[in-house]
Amino acid sequence: MSLRLRLTMLYASLLGGIILIIGIVVYSVVSVVLVNQTDDLITRTVYDITSVLRVSSSGDLDAVNIPSLNLIENTYIQIWGRDGHLLSSSDNILRYTKPIDPQNLQITRPVFHDSLVSNNHLRVISVPLEVNKRQVGLLQVGISLSFLDRTQQVLLVVLIFTDIIAMGMAALVGWLVLGRALAPLETVTQVAIQITRADDLSRRIPLSGSPNDEVGQLIQAFNQTLGRLEQLFTAQRRFMADVSHELRTPLTVIKANVALMSRLGEADKESLAGIENEVDRLTRMVGDLLLLAQAESGKIPLDMRPVALDTVLLEVFQQMRLLAGDRLLVKLVDIDQVVVNGDRDRLKQVFLNIGSNAIKYTPAGGQIQVGLSKSGSQVRVVVTDSGPGIPAQDIPHIFERFYRGEKSRTRSRDGGGFGLGLSIAYWIVHNHGGRIEVDSKVGNGTTFCVWLPVEAVKLT
Ligand code: ADP
Repeated sequence: MSLRLRLTMLYASLLGGIILIIGIVVYSVVSVVLVNQTDDLITRTVYDITSVLRVSSSGDLDAVNIPSLNLIENTYIQIWGRDGHLLSSSDNILRYTKPIDPQNLQITRPVFHDSLVSNNHLRVISVPLEVNKRQVGLLQVGISLSFLDRTQQVLLVVLIFTDIIAMGMAALVGWLVLGRALAPLETVTQVAIQITRADDLSRRIPLSGSPNDEVGQLIQAFNQTLGRLEQLFTAQRRFMADVSHELRTPLTVIKANVALMSRLGEADKESLAGIENEVDRLTRMVGDLLLLAQAESGKIPLDMRPVALDTVLLEVFQQMRLLAGDRLLVKLVDIDQVVVNGDRDRLKQVFLNIGSNAIKYTPAGGQIQVGLSKSGSQVRVVVTDSGPGIPAQDIPHIFERFYRGEKSRTRSRDGGGFGLGLSIAYWIVHNHGGRIEVDSKVGNGTTFCVWLPVEAVKLT
């Protein structure tokens, strides 16, 4: 059963149920009020009759002239003597000699009772007539309840019809309103099916109604998911293309060297060195990719322990000086003593990746500064170079896998990286609860800033 039908039925039956309950209450209240009014009327008639009743010297009831009382229509009266014979009755039942309420002839106090006399529904009060605590007769006064029956019938019909009409209208209105409200969901389903069939993640579901209602929020969430999926698939496709491209070049070099040696019929030293170079490069790339895959999925094995970051940075500084040689001036600016919680080797790898980039991209005669300072609950490692800077359009992408700036792409063969170094650094820092910032302007050098949370030192 569709959601629309289920909700419509629920809505209609809920309204029907409420109206039914209200109907039962109204019906009961009206019945009780009308019966009470009838009982009041009968009681008043009983007073009128008893006020004119006389008892003879023998202790029997005198015959009563009932018609002389100002009786309302449809009122039936019988006065029964002590010995159980009918003494008097109202004109309208002169021929009826049986009691109008046969069930209550032997009573000691007034009793109201509903009775059926010749198919007439009567409300009857039976009142024992007493003189000096001695019962001298019985008075029965009945009023026809036909008006009550009619009222109840009309009320019942009105209530049933109102209920049916209300349920019908609720179902109709509910069906139409729900149809309108759920129509965007239908569109969502259709678009989702089309996306699956056409394999086209660039499509989005149009937002026709309010963006703040449930359906609007669902559509927005769905579109966001689609956007994310599209990004992921594009990244995956690009990754496959990048990996294939990176693998092809060293494999071509290896194949060419092997072909050369097989043509020569002997092992050629230069070719062997070339093959070794490319194999090293491939090994490095596979290692980097593996590390990146682990880091990205958060499954990188991190040996977390307190690390004296200043010592790590000093080691990196030494290595950078070796790498730079006489080509560049590598300076250590301020260095605070700071302990962070992290994996020593991985953190060292982060600073080495950033530091070696600075050395790689800064032209001879340039200068590189390395610094470490504490700022509140965070520590900041800064590597600044006087290199060519990174073009603004490259900056948002430099932490992506295989992303390399235009210049580094052209020089990738002469020992350049694969465009994985900063991605690895980003993920390692991310897994340490930190972040990397970059500030660069073309021609004005580059500053990389790594922020890490400082380990809370426990005083014992
Ligand atoms: P690569 O192996 O190409 O160095 P990275 O991921 O380490 O890969 O860096 C990505 C890109 O960021 C580089 O190709 C380069 O264009 C740019 N880059 C990184 N560091 C610097 C820097 N210090 N100066 C200029 N450009 C840089």
